[in-house]
Amino acid sequence: MQGLLIINAGSSSLKFAMFEAPLAANALALFRGQIDGIGAETKFVAKDVNGATLSDTVIHAPAGTDLEGLQQFALEHLLSWIEAQKVELQAVGHRVLHGGEDYSAPVRITPEVFATLESFIPLGPLHQPHNLRPIRMLAKKYPQLPQVACFDTAFHRTQPWLAQTYPIPRKLTQEGVKRYGFHGTSYEYVSRELPAVIGAKAQGAVVIAHLGNGASMAALRDLKCVATTMGFTAAEGLMMGTRSGTIDPGILLYMVERHGYGAEELTRAIYKESGLLGVSGISQDMRTLEGSDAPEAKEAVDLFCYRAAREIGSLTMAAGGLDALVFTGGIGENSSHVRASIVKYLGWLGARLDADANAQRGKAQCISTPDSGVVVAVVPTNEEWMIAHHTSTLLG
Ligand code: ADP
Repeated sequence: MQGLLIINAGSSSLKFAMFEAPLAANALALFRGQIDGIGAETKFVAKDVNGATLSDTVIHAPAGTDLEGLQQFALEHLLSWIEAQKVELQAVGHRVLHGGEDYSAPVRITPEVFATLESFIPLGPLHQPHNLRPIRMLAKKYPQLPQVACFDTAFHRTQPWLAQTYPIPRKLTQEGVKRYGFHGTSYEYVSRELPAVIGAKAQGAVVIAHLGNGASMAALRDLKCVATTMGFTAAEGLMMGTRSGTIDPGILLYMVERHGYGAEELTRAIYKESGLLGVSGISQDMRTLEGSDAPEAKEAVDLFCYRAAREIGSLTMAAGGLDALVFTGGIGENSSHVRASIVKYLGWLGARLDADANAQRGKAQCISTPDSGVVVAVVPTNEEWMIAHHTSTLLG
């Protein structure tokens, strides 16, 4: 069997999914899994299409292997495991953080494209080098294997200048300090599915809320992005699992001046110690917080919903109205409490939820009442399928 391998690589983890080629509409992955703990105890887990475990093992690289060697080792393990499943790679699609200003669509990787993608590393130093590493390793091992990059930023290239520009010295803007926006593959998938779920309203003013560990929103008109909450980095916008989202830049200066924080400590505070985890002091996980009786857990969830609703206000202005609000991502697809709390803030717009529909989880459907002033819907995202689709399309 021939397969399309989808890779989402981080510094210490690598998520993968395999789709049968040629790709069917709405195909489920033949298998999927992840390698975690690269650099420490490295675990390899793979599950089949029904969620049954195919492999769950700790893998050991030779002692003394450096981080890059360990990443290579993890990829090699995956490739030989795939071979043992009797799947032959037809192509590989990669989730890549940054396409800069150059790429508004996925691209087949050539040495020239790869060099351009490397030049975006300063724009995303925490992700871009890790996203690119398996591309380089695979190109070296299998020079003929087609590889495709799908960018988190691409969907947002349609934002007008006003939405992209920060009020900072022009010199920085010229260097590329702009709002790029992320989660683009998820927005693209959801916007593709949306007309089938809500009909003609999908072409109007729509806000999609991708609420997961990382969380962002995008405002669309005619299914094209006109504004988004994430910015130059994925730290801006909504309160997230461990990220603060938008805060007063003066707080960063305060941490530097008052507490002597350097870049590393600031990064940790903003990316790893804030958000739901920081406010609750309990967990970054929405399910855990919803199940907790601690007042701090409730405060964290309340703040998450309030901040999300405020951002919807801002995006409504950018979209010139609000015909539909669409939830996706782990929290958006599964938490009826979060959806209800956010929609309650939109009561002044006449937004009303159908309680029975909202109580369901993970189903693409409209969850507002017929008389609601705003159509509210849930559309489960599927970033891997979207990358597989682009990969097979670019192969021709
Ligand atoms: P990531 O950004 O890592 O892809 P996900 O989109 O998987 O994250 O979302 C993870 C979040 O979804 C976690 O906060 C998790 O608690 C939340 N979540 C998953 N299922 C539920 C549920 N049934 N109720 C509430 N929250 C849920």
